[in-house]
Amino acid sequence: MISKRPIDIPCTLQERKVLEQIALAAHELGLPCYLIGGFVRDKLLNRRTKDMDVVCVGDGIALAHKVATHFDNVPVNFFKTYGTAQVKWNELEIEFVGARKESYRQHSRNPEVVPGTLKDDQLRRDFTINALAISLNEDDYGTLIDPFNGLADLEAKIIRTPLEPAQTFIDDPLRMMRAIRFASQLQFTITDEAFRAIQDNAERIKIISQERISDEFNKIMLSAVPSVGLDLLYKAGLMKIILPQMIDLVGVEMVEGKGHKDNFYHTLQVVDNISRNTHDLWLRWAALLHDIGKPATKRFEQGHGWTFHGHDAVGGKMVPRIFAKMKLPQHESMRLVKKLVELHLRPISVTKENITDSAIRRLLFDAGDDIEGLMMLCEADITSKNRVKVKRYLENFELVRQRLKEVEESDRIRNWQPPVTGEMIMETFGLKPSRVVGDLKNAIREAILDGVIPNTYEAAYAFLLEKAQALDLTPVK
Ligand code: ATP
Repeated sequence: MISKRPIDIPCTLQERKVLEQIALAAHELGLPCYLIGGFVRDKLLNRRTKDMDVVCVGDGIALAHKVATHFDNVPVNFFKTYGTAQVKWNELEIEFVGARKESYRQHSRNPEVVPGTLKDDQLRRDFTINALAISLNEDDYGTLIDPFNGLADLEAKIIRTPLEPAQTFIDDPLRMMRAIRFASQLQFTITDEAFRAIQDNAERIKIISQERISDEFNKIMLSAVPSVGLDLLYKAGLMKIILPQMIDLVGVEMVEGKGHKDNFYHTLQVVDNISRNTHDLWLRWAALLHDIGKPATKRFEQGHGWTFHGHDAVGGKMVPRIFAKMKLPQHESMRLVKKLVELHLRPISVTKENITDSAIRRLLFDAGDDIEGLMMLCEADITSKNRVKVKRYLENFELVRQRLKEVEESDRIRNWQPPVTGEMIMETFGLKPSRVVGDLKNAIREAILDGVIPNTYEAAYAFLLEKAQALDLTPVK
Protein backbone atom coordinates (compact mmCIF):
# COMPACT_ATOMS: atom_id res chain seq x y z
CA MET A 1 0.00 0.00 0.00
CA ILE A 2 2.76 2.49 0.85
CA SER A 3 4.60 3.84 -2.16
CA LYS A 4 8.31 3.29 -1.73
CA ARG A 5 9.17 6.87 -2.42
CA PRO A 6 12.31 7.69 -0.38
CA ILE A 7 11.72 9.73 2.72
CA ASP A 8 12.96 13.34 2.66
CA ILE A 9 15.21 12.93 5.71
CA PRO A 10 18.29 10.76 6.28
CA CYS A 11 17.07 7.75 8.33
CA THR A 12 18.67 4.43 9.20
CA LEU A 13 17.28 1.25 7.71
CA GLN A 14 15.71 0.37 11.04
CA GLU A 15 14.07 3.80 11.36
CA ARG A 16 12.69 3.44 7.84
CA LYS A 17 11.15 0.09 8.73
CA VAL A 18 9.60 1.56 11.88
CA LEU A 19 8.14 4.49 9.92
CA GLU A 20 6.67 2.10 7.36
CA GLN A 21 4.96 0.11 10.12
CA ILE A 22 3.54 3.31 11.64
CA ALA A 23 2.29 4.32 8.20
CA LEU A 24 0.69 0.91 7.74
CA ALA A 25 -1.03 1.08 11.13
CA ALA A 26 -2.36 4.59 10.37
CA HIS A 27 -3.59 3.38 7.00
CA GLU A 28 -5.46 0.50 8.67
CA LEU A 29 -7.25 3.03 10.90
CA GLY A 30 -7.77 5.46 8.03
CA LEU A 31 -5.92 8.23 9.92
CA PRO A 32 -3.69 10.78 8.15
CA CYS A 33 -0.38 10.67 10.00
CA TYR A 34 2.91 12.59 10.05
CA LEU A 35 6.34 12.53 11.61
CA ILE A 36 6.90 15.95 13.21
CA GLY A 37 9.10 18.14 15.40
CA GLY A 38 12.53 17.43 16.88
CA PHE A 39 13.16 14.16 15.03
CA VAL A 40 12.70 15.78 11.62
CA ARG A 41 14.77 18.80 12.67
CA ASP A 42 17.63 16.73 14.10
CA LYS A 43 17.74 14.31 11.16
CA LEU A 44 17.99 17.21 8.75
CA LEU A 45 20.86 18.54 10.85
CA ASN A 46 22.50 15.12 11.05
CA ARG A 47 22.21 15.13 14.83
CA ARG A 48 21.64 11.93 16.79
CA THR A 49 18.08 11.49 18.00
CA LYS A 50 16.04 8.67 19.44
CA ASP A 51 12.70 10.43 20.06
CA MET A 52 10.12 10.27 17.31
CA ASP A 53 7.01 12.46 17.48
CA VAL A 54 4.07 11.32 15.40
CA VAL A 55 0.93 13.37 14.92
CA CYS A 56 -2.25 12.02 13.35
CA VAL A 57 -5.50 13.72 12.43
CA GLY A 58 -7.66 11.78 14.86
CA ASP A 59 -7.09 9.69 17.98
CA GLY A 60 -3.34 9.47 18.77
CA ILE A 61 -3.86 6.93 21.54
CA ALA A 62 -5.76 4.60 19.22
CA LEU A 63 -2.97 4.90 16.66
CA ALA A 64 -0.36 4.03 19.31
CA HIS A 65 -2.31 0.86 20.21
CA LYS A 66 -2.54 -0.12 16.56
CA VAL A 67 1.18 0.50 16.03
CA ALA A 68 1.95 -1.68 19.07
CA THR A 69 0.29 -4.63 17.32
CA HIS A 70 2.92 -4.24 14.58
CA PHE A 71 5.72 -4.34 17.16
CA ASP A 72 5.18 -7.61 19.06
CA ASN A 73 2.39 -5.99 21.11
CA VAL A 74 4.79 -3.81 23.12
CA PRO A 75 3.12 -1.96 26.00
CA VAL A 76 1.59 1.46 25.32
CA ASN A 77 1.91 4.22 27.93
CA PHE A 78 -0.87 6.67 27.48
CA PHE A 79 -2.22 9.79 29.17
CA LYS A 80 -5.90 10.21 28.48
CA THR A 81 -6.08 13.79 29.74
CA TYR A 82 -3.38 14.91 27.32
CA GLY A 83 -4.40 12.57 24.49
CA THR A 84 -0.80 11.37 24.13
CA ALA A 85 0.71 7.88 24.06
CA GLN A 86 4.19 6.40 24.00
CA VAL A 87 5.65 3.24 22.55
CA LYS A 88 9.23 2.06 22.96
CA TRP A 89 10.71 -0.05 20.22
CA ASN A 90 14.37 -1.05 20.36
CA GLU A 91 16.21 2.21 20.97
CA LEU A 92 13.40 4.44 19.79
CA GLU A 93 10.82 6.28 21.89
CA ILE A 94 7.82 7.07 19.74
CA GLU A 95 5.27 9.58 20.96
CA PHE A 96 1.78 9.78 19.42
CA VAL A 97 -0.65 12.67 19.61
CA GLY A 98 -3.77 13.74 17.75
CA ALA A 99 -3.41 16.99 15.79
CA ARG A 100 -4.71 19.85 17.91
CA LYS A 101 -5.50 23.50 18.02
CA GLU A 102 -4.58 25.41 21.16
CA SER A 103 -5.75 28.60 22.81
CA TYR A 104 -4.15 30.06 25.92
CA ARG A 105 -5.36 31.89 29.00
CA GLN A 106 -3.30 34.54 30.69
CA HIS A 107 -2.01 32.95 33.90
CA SER A 108 -1.23 29.46 32.81
CA ARG A 109 0.82 27.67 30.23
CA ASN A 110 -1.86 24.99 29.97
CA PRO A 111 -3.88 25.76 26.88
CA GLU A 112 -7.42 24.82 25.99
CA VAL A 113 -7.10 22.11 23.40
CA VAL A 114 -9.47 21.07 20.62
CA PRO A 115 -8.87 18.66 17.72
CA GLY A 116 -7.42 20.36 14.65
CA THR A 117 -5.76 19.89 11.28
CA LEU A 118 -2.08 19.22 10.60
CA LYS A 119 -1.65 22.94 9.87
CA ASP A 120 -3.25 23.87 13.24
CA ASP A 121 -0.84 21.49 14.92
CA GLN A 122 2.16 22.92 13.12
CA LEU A 123 1.03 26.42 14.11
CA ARG A 124 1.06 25.53 17.81
CA ARG A 125 4.71 24.47 17.58
CA ASP A 126 7.22 26.89 19.09
CA PHE A 127 9.64 27.46 16.21
CA THR A 128 9.53 27.02 12.46
CA ILE A 129 12.41 24.51 12.67
CA ASN A 130 10.29 22.46 15.10
CA ALA A 131 7.17 22.58 12.92
CA LEU A 132 8.55 20.54 10.03
CA ALA A 133 6.48 17.45 9.22
CA ILE A 134 6.98 14.43 6.98
CA SER A 135 3.96 12.71 5.51
CA LEU A 136 3.49 9.03 6.32
CA ASN A 137 0.44 8.80 4.02
CA GLU A 138 0.09 6.73 0.91
CA ASP A 139 -0.27 9.50 -1.67
CA ASP A 140 2.73 11.61 -0.62
CA TYR A 141 4.73 9.31 1.70
CA GLY A 142 8.07 10.78 2.73
CA THR A 143 7.32 14.33 1.60
CA LEU A 144 8.33 17.26 3.75
CA ILE A 145 5.41 19.53 4.72
CA ASP A 146 6.81 22.91 5.59
CA PRO A 147 4.21 25.71 5.66
CA PHE A 148 6.42 28.20 7.58
CA ASN A 149 9.71 27.81 5.68
CA GLY A 150 11.31 25.89 8.50
CA LEU A 151 13.75 24.24 6.10
CA ALA A 152 15.05 27.62 4.92
CA ASP A 153 15.41 28.70 8.59
CA LEU A 154 17.25 25.48 9.35
CA GLU A 155 19.66 26.18 6.51
CA ALA A 156 20.08 29.82 7.52
CA LYS A 157 20.45 28.74 11.19
CA ILE A 158 17.60 30.92 12.36
CA ILE A 159 15.14 30.54 15.22
CA ARG A 160 11.80 32.08 14.28
CA THR A 161 8.30 31.58 15.66
CA PRO A 162 5.51 30.51 13.27
CA LEU A 163 3.10 32.97 14.94
CA GLU A 164 3.63 36.51 16.16
CA PRO A 165 6.58 36.17 18.59
CA ALA A 166 5.16 38.13 21.55
CA GLN A 167 2.01 35.99 21.54
CA THR A 168 4.10 32.82 21.27
CA PHE A 169 6.12 33.70 24.37
CA ILE A 170 3.19 35.10 26.35
CA ASP A 171 1.20 31.91 25.68
CA ASP A 172 3.99 29.68 26.95
CA PRO A 173 6.99 31.49 28.48
CA LEU A 174 9.02 28.26 28.63
CA ARG A 175 9.51 28.86 24.92
CA MET A 176 11.83 31.77 25.81
CA MET A 177 14.16 29.32 27.52
CA ARG A 178 13.76 26.87 24.64
CA ALA A 179 14.64 29.54 22.06
CA ILE A 180 17.85 30.34 23.92
CA ARG A 181 18.59 26.68 24.50
CA PHE A 182 18.28 25.89 20.78
CA ALA A 183 20.40 28.94 19.94
CA SER A 184 23.09 27.61 22.25
CA GLN A 185 22.78 23.91 21.35
CA LEU A 186 22.60 24.41 17.59
CA GLN A 187 24.54 27.68 17.44
CA PHE A 188 21.57 29.32 15.69
CA THR A 189 20.49 32.97 15.80
CA ILE A 190 17.17 34.08 17.25
CA THR A 191 15.50 36.63 14.95
CA ASP A 192 15.68 40.21 16.25
CA GLU A 193 11.91 40.37 16.47
CA ALA A 194 11.71 37.19 18.51
CA PHE A 195 14.56 38.25 20.78
CA ARG A 196 12.90 41.60 21.44
CA ALA A 197 9.72 39.75 22.33
CA ILE A 198 11.68 37.65 24.83
CA GLN A 199 13.18 40.79 26.38
CA ASP A 200 9.72 42.36 26.63
CA ASN A 201 8.17 39.31 28.26
CA ALA A 202 11.06 37.97 30.36
CA GLU A 203 9.10 38.53 33.61
CA ARG A 204 6.55 35.93 32.47
CA ILE A 205 9.11 33.19 33.04
CA LYS A 206 7.92 33.38 36.68
CA ILE A 207 4.82 31.34 35.84
CA ILE A 208 6.99 28.40 34.77
CA SER A 209 7.97 25.73 37.28
CA GLN A 210 11.57 25.86 38.50
CA GLU A 211 12.15 22.25 37.39
CA ARG A 212 11.38 23.09 33.77
CA ILE A 213 13.49 26.24 33.87
CA SER A 214 16.43 24.34 35.36
CA ASP A 215 16.03 21.56 32.84
CA GLU A 216 16.45 24.04 29.99
CA PHE A 217 19.24 25.85 31.85
CA ASN A 218 21.13 22.57 32.18
CA LYS A 219 20.70 21.88 28.48
CA ILE A 220 22.31 25.27 27.85
CA MET A 221 25.11 24.32 30.25
CA LEU A 222 25.62 21.08 28.33
CA SER A 223 25.82 22.72 24.90
CA ALA A 224 29.20 22.83 23.15
CA VAL A 225 29.69 26.56 23.79
CA PRO A 226 27.48 27.36 26.80
CA SER A 227 28.46 31.06 26.84
CA VAL A 228 26.22 31.57 23.79
CA GLY A 229 23.12 30.66 25.80
CA LEU A 230 24.30 32.18 29.09
CA ASP A 231 25.00 35.53 27.46
CA LEU A 232 21.60 35.44 25.72
CA LEU A 233 19.92 34.71 29.07
CA TYR A 234 21.67 37.78 30.45
CA LYS A 235 20.82 40.02 27.51
CA ALA A 236 17.22 38.82 27.46
CA GLY A 237 16.75 39.79 31.12
CA LEU A 238 16.11 36.18 32.10
CA MET A 239 19.35 35.60 34.01
CA LYS A 240 18.45 38.24 36.59
CA ILE A 241 15.27 36.33 37.37
CA ILE A 242 16.68 32.81 37.21
CA LEU A 243 20.13 33.25 38.76
CA PRO A 244 20.50 36.86 39.97
CA GLN A 245 23.84 36.17 41.66
CA MET A 246 25.35 35.99 38.17
CA ILE A 247 24.28 39.56 37.46
CA ASP A 248 26.30 40.81 40.44
CA LEU A 249 29.39 39.62 38.54
CA VAL A 250 28.67 41.92 35.60
CA GLY A 251 30.75 45.02 34.95
CA VAL A 252 34.02 46.71 35.69
CA GLU A 253 34.48 49.22 38.48
CA MET A 254 37.25 51.84 38.29
CA VAL A 255 39.00 53.48 41.24
CA GLU A 256 42.10 55.64 40.84
CA GLY A 257 42.30 54.53 37.23
CA LYS A 258 42.40 50.86 38.21
CA GLY A 259 39.74 48.44 37.05
CA HIS A 260 39.19 44.75 37.67
CA LYS A 261 38.13 42.25 35.05
CA ASP A 262 34.46 41.79 34.22
CA ASN A 263 33.81 38.70 36.27
CA PHE A 264 30.65 37.77 34.36
CA TYR A 265 32.39 37.47 31.01
CA HIS A 266 35.44 35.93 32.65
CA THR A 267 33.12 33.29 34.15
CA LEU A 268 31.47 32.57 30.79
CA GLN A 269 34.88 32.00 29.28
CA VAL A 270 35.84 29.64 32.09
CA VAL A 271 32.64 27.66 31.45
CA ASP A 272 33.49 27.44 27.73
CA ASN A 273 37.07 26.44 28.53
CA ILE A 274 36.10 23.59 30.83
CA SER A 275 33.39 22.49 28.38
CA ARG A 276 36.06 21.79 25.77
CA ASN A 277 37.47 19.14 28.10
CA THR A 278 34.44 17.65 29.84
CA HIS A 279 30.75 16.94 29.31
CA ASP A 280 30.23 16.63 33.05
CA LEU A 281 27.37 18.97 33.96
CA TRP A 282 28.59 19.51 37.52
CA LEU A 283 32.14 20.40 36.56
CA ARG A 284 30.56 22.97 34.24
CA TRP A 285 28.44 24.24 37.14
CA ALA A 286 31.57 24.52 39.28
CA ALA A 287 33.05 26.72 36.54
CA LEU A 288 29.87 28.82 36.46
CA LEU A 289 29.95 29.42 40.22
CA HIS A 290 33.71 29.48 40.88
CA ASP A 291 33.81 33.28 41.36
CA ILE A 292 30.26 33.73 42.64
CA GLY A 293 31.66 34.99 45.99
CA LYS A 294 33.56 37.84 44.34
CA PRO A 295 30.93 40.61 44.50
CA ALA A 296 30.45 40.09 48.25
CA THR A 297 34.18 40.22 48.96
CA LYS A 298 35.24 42.96 46.56
CA ARG A 299 37.41 45.71 48.13
CA PHE A 300 39.64 48.43 46.81
CA GLU A 301 42.81 48.56 48.90
CA GLN A 302 44.88 51.72 48.64
CA GLY A 303 48.19 51.06 46.97
CA HIS A 304 47.13 47.50 46.23
CA GLY A 305 44.18 47.62 43.89
CA TRP A 306 41.16 45.35 43.80
CA THR A 307 41.01 42.32 46.07
CA PHE A 308 38.48 39.54 46.55
CA HIS A 309 39.85 37.96 49.73
CA GLY A 310 37.94 34.92 50.84
CA HIS A 311 35.74 34.76 47.74
CA ASP A 312 36.43 31.03 47.54
CA ALA A 313 34.96 30.32 50.99
CA VAL A 314 32.11 32.83 50.59
CA GLY A 315 31.32 31.38 47.13
CA GLY A 316 31.32 27.84 48.52
CA LYS A 317 28.76 28.88 51.15
CA MET A 318 26.49 30.31 48.44
CA VAL A 319 26.35 27.04 46.49
CA PRO A 320 23.79 25.14 48.62
CA ARG A 321 21.32 28.05 48.50
CA ILE A 322 21.69 28.43 44.75
CA PHE A 323 21.21 24.69 44.25
CA ALA A 324 18.13 24.70 46.50
CA LYS A 325 16.57 27.64 44.66
CA MET A 326 17.31 26.06 41.26
CA LYS A 327 15.94 22.72 42.54
CA LEU A 328 19.16 20.99 41.54
CA PRO A 329 20.28 17.77 43.26
CA GLN A 330 21.22 18.52 46.87
CA HIS A 331 23.65 15.74 47.61
CA GLU A 332 26.70 14.54 45.72
CA SER A 333 26.54 16.98 42.81
CA MET A 334 26.04 19.95 45.10
CA ARG A 335 28.85 18.82 47.39
CA LEU A 336 31.19 18.47 44.41
CA VAL A 337 30.39 21.98 43.15
CA LYS A 338 30.73 23.48 46.64
CA LYS A 339 34.06 21.74 47.19
CA LEU A 340 35.52 22.85 43.86
CA VAL A 341 34.39 26.45 44.43
CA GLU A 342 36.02 26.37 47.87
CA LEU A 343 39.24 24.84 46.60
CA HIS A 344 39.63 26.61 43.26
CA LEU A 345 42.49 28.84 44.44
CA ARG A 346 44.48 26.10 46.12
CA PRO A 347 46.45 24.74 43.15
CA ILE A 348 47.47 28.32 42.30
CA SER A 349 48.60 29.00 45.83
CA VAL A 350 50.55 25.73 45.79
CA THR A 351 52.52 26.97 42.77
CA LYS A 352 53.38 30.14 44.68
CA GLU A 353 54.82 28.17 47.61
CA ASN A 354 57.57 26.27 45.81
CA ILE A 355 55.29 23.25 45.65
CA THR A 356 56.24 21.58 48.92
CA ASP A 357 55.29 17.94 49.54
CA SER A 358 53.23 19.03 52.48
CA ALA A 359 51.14 21.46 50.38
CA ILE A 360 50.61 18.73 47.77
CA ARG A 361 49.56 16.22 50.43
CA ARG A 362 47.05 18.70 51.86
CA LEU A 363 45.63 19.40 48.45
CA LEU A 364 45.23 15.68 47.77
CA PHE A 365 43.65 15.18 51.17
CA ASP A 366 41.14 18.01 50.71
CA ALA A 367 40.24 17.28 47.07
CA GLY A 368 40.26 13.47 47.31
CA ASP A 369 38.93 11.85 44.15
CA ASP A 370 37.85 15.24 42.78
CA ILE A 371 41.44 16.36 42.27
CA GLU A 372 41.25 15.88 38.48
CA GLY A 373 38.06 17.99 38.28
CA LEU A 374 39.73 20.65 40.41
CA MET A 375 42.81 20.77 38.17
CA MET A 376 40.55 21.03 35.11
CA LEU A 377 38.73 23.97 36.73
CA CYS A 378 42.00 25.73 37.54
CA GLU A 379 43.29 25.31 33.99
CA ALA A 380 39.96 26.58 32.62
CA ASP A 381 40.27 29.58 34.96
CA ILE A 382 43.23 30.90 32.95
CA THR A 383 41.65 33.49 30.68
CA SER A 384 44.54 35.91 30.28
CA LYS A 385 45.08 37.28 26.79
CA ASN A 386 48.81 37.38 27.45
CA ARG A 387 50.23 34.25 25.81
CA VAL A 388 53.42 34.29 27.83
CA LYS A 389 51.44 34.33 31.07
CA VAL A 390 49.11 31.58 29.89
CA LYS A 391 52.09 29.40 28.99
CA ARG A 392 53.71 30.00 32.38
CA TYR A 393 50.48 29.24 34.31
CA LEU A 394 49.89 26.05 32.32
CA GLU A 395 53.46 24.92 32.95
CA ASN A 396 53.04 25.57 36.66
CA PHE A 397 49.89 23.45 36.74
CA GLU A 398 51.66 20.72 34.80
CA LEU A 399 54.28 20.71 37.52
CA VAL A 400 51.57 20.50 40.18
CA ARG A 401 50.02 17.56 38.33
CA GLN A 402 53.36 15.76 38.25
CA ARG A 403 53.95 16.33 41.93
CA LEU A 404 50.40 15.21 42.73
CA LYS A 405 51.14 11.97 40.91
CA GLU A 406 54.44 11.40 42.68
CA VAL A 407 53.14 12.20 46.15
CA GLU A 408 50.02 10.09 45.63
CA GLU A 409 52.13 7.15 44.49
CA SER A 410 54.32 7.32 47.58
CA ASP A 411 51.84 8.47 50.25
CA ARG A 412 48.38 7.32 49.02
CA ILE A 413 46.62 10.39 50.42
CA ARG A 414 43.78 10.69 47.91
CA ASN A 415 41.41 8.23 49.59
CA TRP A 416 43.12 8.57 52.89
CA GLN A 417 41.84 6.72 55.92
CA PRO A 418 43.72 7.52 59.14
CA PRO A 419 45.97 4.56 60.06
CA VAL A 420 44.96 5.04 63.73
CA THR A 421 41.25 5.63 64.25
CA GLY A 422 39.40 7.40 67.07
CA GLU A 423 38.19 3.99 68.30
CA MET A 424 41.74 2.70 68.52
CA ILE A 425 42.73 5.78 70.53
CA MET A 426 39.82 5.29 72.98
CA GLU A 427 40.63 1.61 73.39
CA THR A 428 44.35 2.21 73.90
CA PHE A 429 43.88 4.75 76.69
CA GLY A 430 40.49 3.65 78.04
CA LEU A 431 38.92 6.97 77.00
CA LYS A 432 35.29 7.84 76.32
CA PRO A 433 34.44 9.94 73.23
CA SER A 434 35.88 13.33 74.12
CA ARG A 435 37.78 16.31 72.87
CA VAL A 436 41.18 14.81 73.68
CA VAL A 437 40.44 11.88 71.33
CA GLY A 438 39.71 14.36 68.51
CA ASP A 439 42.86 16.34 69.31
CA LEU A 440 45.04 13.23 69.16
CA LYS A 441 43.44 12.14 65.90
CA ASN A 442 44.02 15.58 64.37
CA ALA A 443 47.62 15.64 65.58
CA ILE A 444 48.28 12.35 63.76
CA ARG A 445 46.62 13.62 60.58
CA GLU A 446 48.58 16.88 60.64
CA ALA A 447 51.87 15.04 61.26
CA ILE A 448 51.24 12.80 58.25
CA LEU A 449 50.16 15.65 55.98
CA ASP A 450 53.18 17.71 57.05
CA GLY A 451 55.46 14.77 56.38
CA VAL A 452 56.62 14.60 60.02
CA ILE A 453 55.79 10.89 60.03
CA PRO A 454 55.07 8.45 57.19
CA ASN A 455 51.51 7.32 56.40
CA THR A 456 51.79 3.94 58.22
CA TYR A 457 50.18 2.34 61.25
CA GLU A 458 53.50 1.79 63.05
CA ALA A 459 54.64 5.38 62.68
CA ALA A 460 51.22 6.78 63.60
CA TYR A 461 50.97 4.54 66.70
CA ALA A 462 54.44 5.51 67.91
CA PHE A 463 53.57 9.18 67.37
CA LEU A 464 50.31 8.70 69.30
CA LEU A 465 52.14 7.22 72.32
CA GLU A 466 54.56 10.14 72.31
CA LYS A 467 51.77 12.73 72.13
CA ALA A 468 49.75 10.94 74.81
CA GLN A 469 52.69 10.86 77.17
CA ALA A 470 52.91 14.64 77.01
CA LEU A 471 49.26 14.68 78.15
CA ASP A 472 49.93 12.21 81.00
CA LEU A 473 47.92 9.48 79.31
CA THR A 474 49.13 5.90 79.63
CA PRO A 475 47.95 2.90 77.67
CA VAL A 476 45.58 0.65 79.61
CA LYS A 477 47.02 -2.55 78.14
P1 ATP B 1 14.85 18.01 22.52
O1 ATP B 1 14.54 16.59 22.21
O2 ATP B 1 16.25 18.41 22.24
O3 ATP B 1 14.36 18.45 23.87
P2 ATP B 1 12.57 18.72 20.96
O4 ATP B 1 12.28 19.86 20.06
O5 ATP B 1 12.42 17.35 20.39
O6 ATP B 1 14.05 18.91 21.48
P3 ATP B 1 10.55 18.05 22.84
O7 ATP B 1 10.31 18.66 24.16
O8 ATP B 1 10.77 16.59 22.71
O9 ATP B 1 11.75 18.88 22.24
O10 ATP B 1 9.34 18.46 21.91
C1 ATP B 1 9.00 17.83 20.71
C2 ATP B 1 8.30 18.83 19.79
O11 ATP B 1 7.15 19.36 20.42
C3 ATP B 1 9.15 20.06 19.44
O12 ATP B 1 10.02 19.84 18.37
C4 ATP B 1 8.09 21.10 19.14
O13 ATP B 1 7.56 20.90 17.86
C5 ATP B 1 7.01 20.76 20.13
N1 ATP B 1 7.14 21.49 21.41
C6 ATP B 1 7.77 21.10 22.54
N2 ATP B 1 7.66 22.01 23.50
C7 ATP B 1 6.93 23.01 22.99
C8 ATP B 1 6.45 24.25 23.52
N3 ATP B 1 6.71 24.64 24.75
N4 ATP B 1 5.70 25.03 22.70
C9 ATP B 1 5.41 24.65 21.44
N5 ATP B 1 5.84 23.51 20.89
C10 ATP B 1 6.57 22.68 21.65
